[in-house]
Amino acid sequence: MKHYDIIIIGSGIAGISLGSIISKERKVAIIEKEKQLSYHSTGRSFAFFIESYGNNAIIELTKISKKFFYDNFNLFLKKKGVMFIGNNKQKTIVEDFYNEHKHKVKLELFSKNETIKLANCLNEDYVNNSVIDINASEIDVNNLYEYYRKQYNKNDGLILTDFNINLVEYKNNKWILNNEISSDIIVNASGAWADEVAKLFKIKPVNVIPKIRTVFVFKPQNIKIDSNCPLVADIEEKFYFKDQNDQIYASPADETPSYPHDCHPDDLDIAIGIDRIQKATKFKFNHIDNKWSGLRTFVKDKSPVIGYENSNKNFFWLVAQGGYGIQTSPALAEISANIILNKKNDFLIDNSTLNNISIKRIRNEIL
Ligand SMILES: Cc1cc2nc3c(=O)[nH]c(=O)nc-3n(C[C@H](O)[C@H](O)[C@H](O)COP(=O)(O)OP(=O)(O)OC[C@H]3O[C@@H](n4cnc5c(N)ncnc54)[C@H](O)[C@@H]3O)c2cc1C
Repeated sequence: MKHYDIIIIGSGIAGISLGSIISKERKVAIIEKEKQLSYHSTGRSFAFFIESYGNNAIIELTKISKKFFYDNFNLFLKKKGVMFIGNNKQKTIVEDFYNEHKHKVKLELFSKNETIKLANCLNEDYVNNSVIDINASEIDVNNLYEYYRKQYNKNDGLILTDFNINLVEYKNNKWILNNEISSDIIVNASGAWADEVAKLFKIKPVNVIPKIRTVFVFKPQNIKIDSNCPLVADIEEKFYFKDQNDQIYASPADETPSYPHDCHPDDLDIAIGIDRIQKATKFKFNHIDNKWSGLRTFVKDKSPVIGYENSNKNFFWLVAQGGYGIQTSPALAEISANIILNKKNDFLIDNSTLNNISIKRIRNEIL
């Protein structure tokens, strides 16, 4: 039987980013139940890096990740900006968002005219004002994933695909999977399957809720999109869209609570998205060129869950990255690697943010 220091369950961005760091100092295997890598959430994202997105813990993690992304800017990011728009009823929500975030992130408040000048596809009768985050960028998720994978390969990390866990045993301080491979530590990086995997190891769930998000792609026939147009997002996250190669990639920003599975888009969600975007823009829809959906997996407070479950230090959580798992992957991987490798994190992240993403808060162990 082959023994590893660490087995990571899940080959998504969470598993591979952590693997790329810890494999420098430990013998690591990643196991993946699918035949294909990046088959689930990681391969289905909207691929954006937005510093002003999410709760305070997410904003902090994104800020930490920024150094990694900016050190390799051309490899991973393409600046596009994001414009959070409001209609007449949402005017003050836009202003409140600006006032709440302007000290943390570089933002500008735009009038109706300034908004329409930058996004010529918007319906003038609909839009009222907007907040611009000019540093928001598209992430090249394939390049990012390949970067992590190459680092992992260079360190002799192993990936076993099509690996289904049928039997888990714990003997002599070692986890044994399927009588085939063993390890001292298990890392649960299984995305939407986080609680199901925990159950296999007789660990209490953290109660993740996978939520479906739909994306659809179309080519508007009546209007040519200016390529300077930023990602446009409704200030209350009811829809968003971006242009890419003369097509529009759009989402109704659905958050339908679900269960871990290979999800597919529901026509009703696409119809809702079309309706909302039609009201806000001049786009005329012909047909949908492409569509998909994926799971954004949260716990109740919408912050990730990381850390050792127990004082035995043999089961580590790296889950619940929600809708931010790509943009926060550098930070979450580094912080998790430091914990696993017994290194300090205090130069990276302050204690209160660490508490807010720790498994200990879920277990009510933070005093
Ligand atoms: C539509 C959509 C848009 C998004 N947009 C963005 C965005 O713009 N920016 C951003 O930062 N994030 C975005 N996200 C979120 C981001 O995609 C996720 O947070 C991230 O991909 C989660 O990565 P993961 O590795 O935890 O999960 P996954 O990529 O789902 O990987 C988990 C893996 O674990 C495997 N697994 C599960 N159970 C087992 C088992 N028992 N044995 C072996 N393997 C197992 C699964 O097969 C899977 O491959 C978006 C998500 C969606 C769905």
